[in-house]
Amino acid sequence: MEPFKEKIWLSSPTMHGDELKYMQEAFNTNWMSTVGDNINEIEEIVAEKVGVKYGVALSSGTASLHLAVKLAAEHLYQSSTGIHTPFGMGCGGALLGKRVFCSDMTFDATVNPVVYEGGEPVFIDSEYDTWNMNPEALEKAFCLYPDVKLVVFVHLYGVPGKMMELAKICKKHGALMVEDAAESLGASYQGIQTGSFGDFSAVSFNGNKIITGSSGGMFLTDNLADAKQCRKWSTQSREDAPWYQHEEIGYNYRMSNVIAGVVRGQVPYLKEHIMQKKKIYEQYKKGLSDLPVSINPFDKEKSEPNYWMTALLIDEDAMATQVRGEREVLWKTEAGKSTPAEILEAIEHFQGEGRPIWKPMHMQPIYRNHGFITVGGSDRGKKADVSADIFRRGLCLPSDNKMTAKEQERIIDIIHRCFE
Ligand SMILES: *Cc1c(COP(=O)(O)O)cnc(C)c1O
Repeated sequence: MEPFKEKIWLSSPTMHGDELKYMQEAFNTNWMSTVGDNINEIEEIVAEKVGVKYGVALSSGTASLHLAVKLAAEHLYQSSTGIHTPFGMGCGGALLGKRVFCSDMTFDATVNPVVYEGGEPVFIDSEYDTWNMNPEALEKAFCLYPDVKLVVFVHLYGVPGKMMELAKICKKHGALMVEDAAESLGASYQGIQTGSFGDFSAVSFNGNKIITGSSGGMFLTDNLADAKQCRKWSTQSREDAPWYQHEEIGYNYRMSNVIAGVVRGQVPYLKEHIMQKKKIYEQYKKGLSDLPVSINPFDKEKSEPNYWMTALLIDEDAMATQVRGEREVLWKTEAGKSTPAEILEAIEHFQGEGRPIWKPMHMQPIYRNHGFITVGGSDRGKKADVSADIFRRGLCLPSDNKMTAKEQERIIDIIHRCFE
């Protein structure tokens, strides 16, 4: 079998033409800055799409998550101390020494902002149903640490988590929610868009997301004062004064009007991208149905994913021996069995791009000494560790919306050969 002539990407940007028009407009009118029409426009249309009142366009999804966590921390500080002015004192550290419950299996950008603010992430195990935070494990975590008042969770690979259950638990324990919808723009749970569940939410326009600005992100909220505060922090916290007056710590997190032009041109194509990704998901599902594998699941009754990424999970009894060290992996070839490492290498050999599942945070060297809560309490490394199990048996498949059905057929064929 010949390699693909052109690389089949995991998930790459797909431009349509209007992006250039809006970038050009910024150029022609000299709004080559962090203010301009493109920014104003996308803040409105993205907020409207997600179903929240306010959007603040920022330089990245990570920046959006940072300010979301910071705002949540300030609110918690205010409600626990009764100190309301000036907003937040601006010194940061409102989370200092405080535990925060976080999704365990995710990109570390979900979790790092908690540490930026001095908090201590405690990781909550995933569930097999959606690969997202397990509500039962979250409930268990509140039993163990009843003082925790903030939960940061993610919708992985565009599949919504069990939002109603998670929200109910947070409400019961008086905890605020920060929602990482970086991968799930356009996905919905019980008809409600992801990005609208958190007290503060974030989406990303990074190059590999469902729509992109090449980079960028957006902070989303229903609260006007919070949106204003976020905008102020993102522009170095300038006060309304004749000179540069600073009464709080600030950041340079604002989105460029050029980037916003790209996002503006992409938004109308969100639906089309989702349809293309859905087709890919369904072709994998059908094409792999005769193998001892499954693909990333979702609740068909309640949720509509954006199908950003199709991931595969090898059945336990079809797993060949695989040993992962910190940086390397070894595996055996066994008849009728395979491993994520073998499949990834086979795909790469033919110029396709796959990727391992996000390595769970509780297994990461930087977070290894942090708490990790499963439905059974704390079972780090034991059988009940669902995140570790999905990481061990899973992988992301090439999910680029420009991949043709024929090319995907070949990827499916390559995967079949791994199980021979
Ligand atoms: C991409 C991503 C982010 C970060 O977004 P950036 O725009 O790259 O900073 C955060 N969380 C998750 C789950 C992501 O996939």
